[in-house]
Amino acid sequence: MSALLELRDITMHYPVRGTRNVVRAVDGVSLSIQPGQTVGLVGESGSGKSTIAKLALKLQEPTSGELRFQGESLKGVKGRALKPFRQQVQAVFQDPYASLNPRLRIGETIAEPLLASDERLSASQRAERVAEALAAVELPADVAQRYPHQFSGGQRQRVAIARALILKPSLVVLDEPISALDVSIRAQILNLLAELQQKHRLAYLFIAHDLPAVGAISDVIAVMYCGELLETGPAAGIATQPRHPYTRMLFASVLTPDGDQQAWNTAEPVGEPASPTNPPSGCRFHPRCPEAIARCRSESPLARQVGDRVVRCHLVT
Ligand code: SF4
Ligand code: MG
Repeated sequence: MSALLELRDITMHYPVRGTRNVVRAVDGVSLSIQPGQTVGLVGESGSGKSTIAKLALKLQEPTSGELRFQGESLKGVKGRALKPFRQQVQAVFQDPYASLNPRLRIGETIAEPLLASDERLSASQRAERVAEALAAVELPADVAQRYPHQFSGGQRQRVAIARALILKPSLVVLDEPISALDVSIRAQILNLLAELQQKHRLAYLFIAHDLPAVGAISDVIAVMYCGELLETGPAAGIATQPRHPYTRMLFASVLTPDGDQQAWNTAEPVGEPASPTNPPSGCRFHPRCPEAIARCRSESPLARQVGDRVVRCHLVT
C-alpha cells in the first residue's frame, strides 16, 4: 500500500541574500504519512518544522527530492492538475488571529475553499455545508453570520479547523495549532482534533513544541534537528525509549526521571541549537551531544533503519 503523503529525500536550501551562504533549512528528509495516521513532528525553533509543513502542502518546491501523494509524484505538477491534491490536503496554522480575514463573516471564511473547488453548489447548499462544518467543530450555526473579532482564540481555531474540513480532505497539516492558545483551551482543541480524525479517518501532520500534546495525539513521531530528521518511529517508543541522543535530551527535558508521562515539565534541552546557515561538520548534533566520539566531528551519520526506528547516529546500531 502506498503512503498517503510521502516526502522522499527532500532538501530545501535558501540562498542568503547578498552573501554566498545558503540556509540548509531541510536536508535529506524522508517521511511518510499513512491514511488515518498522525505523524508528530517535533524539534526546537528553527529546526525546519515549518519548512516541512510548507513543503508537505506544496507551497514550496524543494531544492531536490520529491513529494508524492497517493503513490504519484507531484514533481512539476501545477495548475489544474494540482487541484485534487489541493482539495485533499488542508492546513491549520498557529495563529488563529492572523489566519482569519477580519472583514469576512465566519461563514464566508469557511465557505471560501468551496468557491475555489470543482463542486458546483448553490448558495443554500453552501450554507448547509458551512453549518455542517460548524457543527463538526461544535460551534452553533449562527456563528456563520458573525466576525472573527467576536471570538476567542480557541473559537477562532475551531473556525480554522472547520474551514480546513469543508472540502473533506484526507490529510490536514497542523503547524503549531495549539501553541498560541491558552493552556486551558489546548486540551479541548486536541480532543476535538482526535475526534474529527476518528470520524473522518483524517491523517494529520501535527507539528508542535508541546511534546506531551504530540505524544498524546501521534502514532509516529519524527524528531528534527537543524534541518535533518534524527529519529523517526512509533510514538510510544520514541517518548519512553528514545534511541538517538538528541531525542533523549529532548524528551528528558519533559519526562520525570522515572519516565512518568503524567508529570511533564517544560525545561528546555541543554545548549544552543545548531544554525542551519552554518551547520557543524559531521553530525550536526555533535557540539551538544554528550556521547560524541571523534568520528562524529568529521563524518555525517546516515539515516538507518534500526528495529522500529529510523535513526541518524553512528552509535545506534
Ligand atoms: Fe552524538 Fe555522534 Fe550520534 Fe551525533 S553521531 S548523535 S554526535 S553519538
Ligand atoms: Mg515553526
